[in-house]
Amino acid sequence: MTKEPKWLQGKITSIPKLAGAKKLAKLVYDSCNLEGLDCEDAMKRIYELGQFDFKYGRIISTAQLIHRQDNRFEIIVDREKITRRKDWRLKTSLEIIYDSLHEVGHSFFYYRKERETPIRHDEDSEREELFCDVFAAQLLRLIRKK
Ligand SMILES: [Zn+2]
Repeated sequence: MTKEPKWLQGKITSIPKLAGAKKLAKLVYDSCNLEGLDCEDAMKRIYELGQFDFKYGRIISTAQLIHRQDNRFEIIVDREKITRRKDWRLKTSLEIIYDSLHEVGHSFFYYRKERETPIRHDEDSEREELFCDVFAAQLLRLIRKK
């Protein structure tokens, strides 16, 4: 049994910057002990430790992050929209993981505290979207490397 670390406790002290996106992906990879896990198990562990609930649904975008009570987030993915997306680069299952990790990236723009509802640090911005893309691409790369 690997030791289950708490989700990056005390390691994120300010709003993430674009330059730190790859480093944060590595931090998540290491602190969740993802080495050797396949994509499915790696995602399960990220959701478990990060307190994310994943589900499919019909939404406006391809994926969405919703903050919930008790320090939890919901990640909703619209499988049909991802399947229909024109600019896809990966097979559908990996596109879903990529979009989900992008939403995990957005969670770092919230202030989280045990048993409380996450609070947003900042407004949505293009920089945040870019951060989440770089974070997701890097973490997916690490997970697929095995
Ligand atoms: Zn986004």
